[in-house]
Amino acid sequence: MVGVGFEPSAAERNKMGLPFGPMTVPWTLGEFCHWFGAETGLWIDVAPWRVADASPPKCATLLILDNRVIVRYDPRRSVRHRVQQIMHEFGHVLCDHVGDNRFAIGPGLFTTGLDPEKIAAVVQRHDLDGEHEIQAEILGTQLALMCTEVTQLGISEGRLLPARVMDAGRMRRVRALTPLWTALTDAAPEVRLCDLEALSTPAFAEHRMQVEIEDAIVALAPYLRPPADGRAESWVWSISDATARRSVGNVITTVVSAPAWPTDEGRVLAIAKAWTQFQGTSHSSMLR
Ligand SMILES: [Zn+2]
Repeated sequence: MVGVGFEPSAAERNKMGLPFGPMTVPWTLGEFCHWFGAETGLWIDVAPWRVADASPPKCATLLILDNRVIVRYDPRRSVRHRVQQIMHEFGHVLCDHVGDNRFAIGPGLFTTGLDPEKIAAVVQRHDLDGEHEIQAEILGTQLALMCTEVTQLGISEGRLLPARVMDAGRMRRVRALTPLWTALTDAAPEVRLCDLEALSTPAFAEHRMQVEIEDAIVALAPYLRPPADGRAESWVWSISDATARRSVGNVITTVVSAPAWPTDEGRVLAIAKAWTQFQGTSHSSMLR
């Protein structure tokens, strides 16, 4: 089974079981999984966690079991974030991080009936706090940027544009995202892969900012009161309040549910623009 969240197309299914040979970029996630399985002889099983809308955020997890590579991801995140979660886990496999089995196996992680003795390794996507996590996130980012699911974001349907036009659009979006990304990753530095100067290309910068903004919102969840109306201006207030609360450890709740952060990147951009405007106005008028 490959990708309940990313069902392979009929053409991809026809190729199942056959070696792909070299792939051309961009590929779909389904094509990548089939290629990976064909090249390695491993059974690839990528599917979402079964989670209720309001249940706590769930880390993506990689499980190596006999000759199976099992990846589970949180389906409540945006398309870009889901691809990043999945490719991060493949990054661990490609970097050969999975041999030491140093990760604790907690109850409830697996479906019942699985024999823990057969599990070779478990890796969960957590903070970017160790060498392996950073390596997997860098490789995962490069792989995600080669996926059709990510390259098509921000492009109107069916429109083929020259690379320089695409990059100009990405640069505009990066400029719009920068103030919000900076504030959120200052508040939750454990989600930041690298500094602004190291975000080398527009595609890389846009991807990291969108992914890290989403990760930071999850990190801030215990301090965050998501707005009931979902308006961009209301999110600005919620984020401002949450960053202030986190800086002094003033939690709102210890029973954290996944924040209702928009999965539509256009809405994230609107929040980022409202944030920039907010920075330009008097804080006292907003935070009365
Ligand atoms: Zn990881």
